[in-house]
Amino acid sequence: MNKIAKVVIEKATLQFDTQYSYVIPNSLLEFCEEGKRVLVPFGRANTKKQGVVMHIEETDNTDGLKPILQIIDEIPVLNGEMISLCEWMHNNTFCTYFDAIHAILPTGINYKIIETYTAVNDFCGELTQEENEIYNYVLNNKGAAKTKIIKDFSLNNDLVLVSLCAKGALVLNNNAHRNVLDATEKMVHLCQEVSEIPKNITKQQNAVIGVLEEIGDASVKEILYFTGVTASVIKTLEKNGIVATYEKEVFRIPDYDKQVNPKEIVLNQEQQTAYNALCEKLDSKNACCELLYGITGSGKTQVFLKLVDKVVKSGKGVIVMVPEISLTPQTISLFASRYGSKIAVFHSAMSLGQRTDEWKRVKNGEAQVAIGTRSAVFAPFENLGLIIMDEEQEHTYKSEKSPRFHARNVAKFRANKHGAMLLLASATPAVESFLNAKSGKYGLHTLRHRYANAILPEVVTVDMRKEVVSGNSSSISRTLYSEINEVLEAKKQAILLLNRRGYKTYISCPSCSWVASCPNCSISLTYHNANKRLMCHYCGYSAQIDKNCPECGGEHLKFFGLGTQKLEEELNSLFPSAKILRLDADTTMSRDAFSNSLKKFANGEYDLMVGTQMVAKGLNFPNVTLVGVIGADQAMYSEDYRSFERTFSLLTQVIGRAGRGEFKGKAVIQTFSPESDLIKKAVTQDYEAFYDTEITTRKIMTYPPYCDMVTITVSSPFKDLAKVTIEEIFNNLKSGISGEYSDVKMVVLGPSAASIPKISNRYRFRMIIKTRNNKRFRELVRKATSVKLKNDTSVSVDINPESIL
Ligand code: ADP
Ligand code: ZN
Ligand code: ZN
Repeated sequence: MNKIAKVVIEKATLQFDTQYSYVIPNSLLEFCEEGKRVLVPFGRANTKKQGVVMHIEETDNTDGLKPILQIIDEIPVLNGEMISLCEWMHNNTFCTYFDAIHAILPTGINYKIIETYTAVNDFCGELTQEENEIYNYVLNNKGAAKTKIIKDFSLNNDLVLVSLCAKGALVLNNNAHRNVLDATEKMVHLCQEVSEIPKNITKQQNAVIGVLEEIGDASVKEILYFTGVTASVIKTLEKNGIVATYEKEVFRIPDYDKQVNPKEIVLNQEQQTAYNALCEKLDSKNACCELLYGITGSGKTQVFLKLVDKVVKSGKGVIVMVPEISLTPQTISLFASRYGSKIAVFHSAMSLGQRTDEWKRVKNGEAQVAIGTRSAVFAPFENLGLIIMDEEQEHTYKSEKSPRFHARNVAKFRANKHGAMLLLASATPAVESFLNAKSGKYGLHTLRHRYANAILPEVVTVDMRKEVVSGNSSSISRTLYSEINEVLEAKKQAILLLNRRGYKTYISCPSCSWVASCPNCSISLTYHNANKRLMCHYCGYSAQIDKNCPECGGEHLKFFGLGTQKLEEELNSLFPSAKILRLDADTTMSRDAFSNSLKKFANGEYDLMVGTQMVAKGLNFPNVTLVGVIGADQAMYSEDYRSFERTFSLLTQVIGRAGRGEFKGKAVIQTFSPESDLIKKAVTQDYEAFYDTEITTRKIMTYPPYCDMVTITVSSPFKDLAKVTIEEIFNNLKSGISGEYSDVKMVVLGPSAASIPKISNRYRFRMIIKTRNNKRFRELVRKATSVKLKNDTSVSVDINPESIL
């Protein structure tokens, strides 16, 4: 009997991504374990590649199998649970094994394989002249990389190095080399007085200096945004000593230890009832999925914090996931004040070093509460008791790049393995989740009242058609105008939400109807007032605006559409004394700037906050008494079947922002369709009524949860190739269901060009499939998509994607 290892290989393409068998040589038998990384020879050229041992099996036939060369880890990086999770992700999300591993392990734990040499100091054997030169070179350059030696001596191959090693002059350090980089942000500041700056600098350099003079220190990213110059301009300035750069950490974790001050949570009766029921489930120690459904301000957080207390006391691990936008220093402090250094924070904007450290603290049992965004679901607890997903309907819980997993599904997988509870919390659960709760698949726990009888804000709907008729052409209705004035007089605060869809500023030429669009993507460029440039939101392309139309030379280019920036300007002129904070994803400001802005708003340094989606969610400002929604209609008319759900959720959340403190709140919803059922239900915050209508529509139209939507997308730098490839896949599917897979039922829309047919110079073709996602279906798709891919063409499969663009 021999032992063989089933190994998955890094950088495998989807088609060649399987578990390969390798012989475990006797010398490594003792060290080879499942979950360890290894180096193996791969392919015809026996290229050395990194792999992970998934399974070890016994066999008596090892004919033709290659041996494992080296074992990288002393301790396995994946335990049994993670190995099966990795296989589950591979099977269910159409990702490669290594894509799954990269999601499970912090990137910082990965190694780059660099072969280096060390010279043996007291070597005194015979060497040829060339060998001698190389020997001396390595003697002076300790740990010289093989690739560098080969390059510096213009060698054709590594034979001379092999010979040097054989003679004992050099030692090959075939060690895996750690590749941990700090994800810091590069910051720039001026290091000379502007008056001392030489006159002979370029226009672009001058632009950079201008920005720095105005705003002081700025990140390289911000400077590129404001000036449109390339990074090389900054490099030149640095070389000439005009600016200096330094690194700043992107995400800082608050100091846990100093803040521990766990206040006892006293629940009200309704909260206590939910808590008791949840405790009963927890104590049963069976895996379960529970939905905590409570209106905004009902105190869902208090209920699950108390539950976390209980699980922590029992010695088990807890994962708390919150949407990206809610993972602010304030949120972290809330947990830090209760659990001190027992918390670990996971956020994609953290430096690799930090992420690796937090990961290890969970792994070795130091941390017991992992709080973070989607990636926190992989926190490596050995003994997990509870997973919480706050605002479980948020689309950021679904990964939009490989591995295309939904954190809820991964959480279910883990809860099942650990016999843990998955607790979903929301005021507006995903329709799928509420159906599961109503049908008894999930436990349902309801909070119907705001805490301390805080009343839901009074909601007024304004018909914008009447505004237009009566001659008000501004985007602020008369009602909202007077409400804002009242807020300003009372020294309270207001939040104004501008739904972004369709609310961007474009530029076009009235004479020839030319529209500024991105040269790399099939999409219009949007105008940014802050830097006075046109920008593409898909590839980052930016351009200056010419005075004249590039097509016809026309002089009267027109701006149209309403953006947050334009709204801010409008507000500035309507309320000249008000201090306005604008927040949107387009301001490429750092996370620090974002949370600092929120802090300033909380401190009352601003009167109005204007922004997109991000002002609607999870923020808690007791001094906010007014919420205004500019254009409630926009999201409802997109082709996506989820747009009603999203609009309802957004409106509910933003209305819930008002009147959270002791003051009564008011919300003004401006709409062109006040008669719409959806708006009416959002106004009364009647989720259940909304759900009833929505679930019926989904059933009649056969949309999820009554089917699964799957997209297959081909992207390629060559349009014809993309088209031919998607057609080939389509034909494979067709012959599949008329033959071997006649049991698989599906409706295929397309194939056709994607709604955005070109992104970053890649052409995209797509088909949308309505089906039941089961094993047979996935088998068929795997076969159908196993086509030969030429010239950088790629295929991706996404099950229940968040958007179908
Ligand atoms: P939700 O998450 O359901 O929208 P929160 O948990 O944010 O609601 O609670 C709303 C407000 O009520 C918060 O300011 C919170 O501190 C307060 N609150 C809720 N429940 C309690 C409680 N049991 N004891 C003290 N304060 C509470
Ligand atoms: Zn023109
Ligand atoms: Zn673009």
